[in-house]
Parts: sequence; C-alpha cells; structure tokens
Amino acid sequence: MTLTHNTAASAHWQSLLEFDRQHIWHPYAKVPNPLNVLGVISTSGSHITLANQQVVVDGMSSWWAAIHGYNHPDICAAMHQQIDTMPHIMFGGLTHEPAIALTKALLNIVPPGLDKVFYSDSGSVAMEVAIKMALQYWISQLRPDKNRLLTVRNGYHGDTFATMAVCDPDSGMHPLFGHLLTPHLFAPAPHLGFDCSEDDSDSDIAAFEALLSQHHPHIAAVTIEPIVQGAGGMRFYRPDYLKQVRALCTQYNVLLIVDEIATGFGRTGKLFASEWAGITPDIMCIGKALTGGTVSLAATLCTQNVSDGVSQGQPGLLMHGPTFMANPLACAAALASINVLLNSPWQTQITYITAHFSQHLNPLKTLPGVVDVRVLGAIGVVELERNDLGLQIQTIALQHGAWLRPFGNLVYTMPAFNIAKEDLQTLTDALINAVKQVLTRPGQTLSIAQI
Ligand SMILES: *Cc1c(COP(=O)(O)O)cnc(C)c1O
Repeated sequence: MTLTHNTAASAHWQSLLEFDRQHIWHPYAKVPNPLNVLGVISTSGSHITLANQQVVVDGMSSWWAAIHGYNHPDICAAMHQQIDTMPHIMFGGLTHEPAIALTKALLNIVPPGLDKVFYSDSGSVAMEVAIKMALQYWISQLRPDKNRLLTVRNGYHGDTFATMAVCDPDSGMHPLFGHLLTPHLFAPAPHLGFDCSEDDSDSDIAAFEALLSQHHPHIAAVTIEPIVQGAGGMRFYRPDYLKQVRALCTQYNVLLIVDEIATGFGRTGKLFASEWAGITPDIMCIGKALTGGTVSLAATLCTQNVSDGVSQGQPGLLMHGPTFMANPLACAAALASINVLLNSPWQTQITYITAHFSQHLNPLKTLPGVVDVRVLGAIGVVELERNDLGLQIQTIALQHGAWLRPFGNLVYTMPAFNIAKEDLQTLTDALINAVKQVLTRPGQTLSIAQI
C-alpha cells in the first residue's frame, strides 16, 4: 500500500494543509481536523487534479452538483460575460435579465403548474422558504393551526433548524438537537425499491394515510424527496408511492413540498424525479445541479394557488429576502447549465451509466458484507453491513484513481452525465476494488492520516 500524497506534496502544500487543519471547518468535521483533507489544484471535465499532481476521476459530482463535469466551457463563458457586466446587484426593488431569462428557462422544464420562483443561496434555505411559504399560506387562510409538517423517515432536507426538524428523527443531527426542533410527524419510509410492486408494499402508504387522516387539521404540508431519498440512506422508492402521496395531500387539503435538490436536472433519468409519478407538487425546491455545480444557487417554486394564498392574505408579503437573492452571476451560470443539459444527449448518457452500473456493481451483491446494490439513473449505491469502512474505501479508491466519499455504510457514486466511458470504467473498477479489498481483508486498517 503506497500512499504517495504526503511525500509528493510540496512543502508549500504541507503548510497550506496544516493551516487548513488548524483553522478551517470542513463539512461534519472538527477543528483541528484529525483527518487530513486532500488539496485540490484544479478540475476539468470529470478529472480532479490533487495537490500531488495525481489526476483522479470524480465519482461524486461535488455532491450531485457538477452534472456536466467541471469547467464546462459554455458555463464558464456565460459566467465570464456576466462577471464583467454585473456580478451582483441587490434584488430588492431591482431586477435583471439573468434572473428573468433563468426563470423563463425553468418554467419551461419544471412540472406543469409550478410558475412562481423564489431564489435563494442554498438548498437548506430553499427548503426553509418552502416551509415558510406553506406556513404563511395557512396563516393567510386563517388556519394558523395548520402548522405541523408530515414527512417520511430516512429523509434529508438540509442542515438548518427548520429543515433538521424534517430530517430522519433517528439519524443525522436530529437526535442531538431534538429538544430544540419543532416536533413534526414521521410516517415509515416508503419500501425500498423503484420497481417494488404495489401489492408488496401498500402498508407504507396505509401508514402514511393513517397519520394524515388523524392529524390533517394541524398539518400544513407534507415534505418528501421524490423517488430518491439522498443523504438519509440513498434509498429509491416506487413512483406509485409518490403518486398516492400527491392524491392524499389533495384529498386532505395539505400542501405537498417536493425536495428535488438532489434529484433535479436529470439525475434519476427524468429532468425532475416527480415526473416518474407524473405529479405536480404545490411547492418544489431545487439547488445542487441548478448551476451545474459552479456556484451556489437554489430556488423554491410554487403554484399560483400557493402564491395567491400567501399574497392575498395577511400580511400579504412572503417574509423572506436573502441579501444575495437571484445573484446575477449564479443566474447566468444556471441558465447556461440548463442550456447545456437540454442540448446534450443526457438521456442516452444516463441510460449508458445505468446499464454500466447495473452490469458492474450488481455482482457485488453476492459478496459477504454487502447488504444491497441499487442503481437508478446515474446513481450507483453499494450498501454495506459495516458503517466504519468508508475512509478505507475512499483511500483505496483513490489509489485506483477515483474520488469517492462514502458515508456511513453507503458507498455511492453519481458521476457527471457526460463522463467518458473509460473514466466511468476507472470509477467502477476503483469502487469495486475498494469494496472487495476492505470486505475480504477485514481488520486490516489503513492509516488515513497518510492521505
Ligand atoms: C443537499 C440537500 C439539501 C440541502 O442543500 P444545501 O445546499 O446543502 O443546503 C436539501 N435537500 C436535499 C434532498 C439535499 O440533497
């Protein structure tokens, strides 16, 4: 096992990494950080150049975002042009073409009926706005008692306080802050399996309906990730479940908030995962891949019914307004990214990735220590029994030329749609080798500090 990063990294990088370790927080980390992070010098397409000059294939799309790979020339050109014209201007009382053009492009592709857009900076904030919209809607209808949310277990909607309250109640950060979070209602997670048949599984929707029928006078909205539950377990569920959730929300007069932050812009094989169920939510959140992974932007979309409900009641104004709302640079990047997507053969690319993952990852199912392998769209997931092997897998995958970032017992990858075939092969080979190596040699531990 030769880990060359330290030896190859220049003294310059050694001191940068040491400064980073002492002073900078990383996601879900401590300071000083006992785990070394890798320096990155540059990106291009599906390639990441590390501080030691090693070039690795990206298996993460920077957490679902970089769907076209990095530094896409069209997105970069649009951003260069915008940065020279107007990188930012406040959105209070002012507007600009990047926001208007992006909104037109979005309204052409989102599920029909969603036609009002609220821009914000990150996915968590987009979800906060969605929740606020739903609560304000009912306040305006003189139903302030409709102020609870109903969601499903294994969900993930963000890291802020209102969103933590609808994340899975037993995992993530929920238990730590439970006493400070608004208590909401949790239905069992939908049964695992995109192809799961209705007969096998209607107990999950029955449990969901039971909560809805009992509590609907106090429920403002249902929040759910469509088809793919992301950070709460990388679980895929059947479109029919979502279809029934939509119907039940309508029946019980509860708004439906769909969180497409991870799934939006093609990842599951449809532009938006809601399309698998043919539904339009009342409110929808997008983020992550919105700008093709270049710069932070998110949005909360709603139907006219919701916007009228908020705007025609009291106080009549949606009480939210981020400083960097509809940042022109981000809007220009998002518009360019949508155009790149729509002008690309993304469906063919995703079909290829699905077939590739199915062919190469599915055989891991028979390996002792592997609980499940699942593939949907451009997402491949290997679920392990053990939840303490992630760092070893990350290390070995890196030695085989791929960047992966497993979490808990989940090794997963969602590459750029336009990843080259040989890079995709490198990626799956690295993942498979890493999983096999850690599972067939249990007990062997690598010193991650060497990375
Ligand atoms: C990532 C994610 C969020 C939060 O987005 P941030 O930009 O990290 O705040 C919310 N919901 C889902 C489904 C996500 O995947």
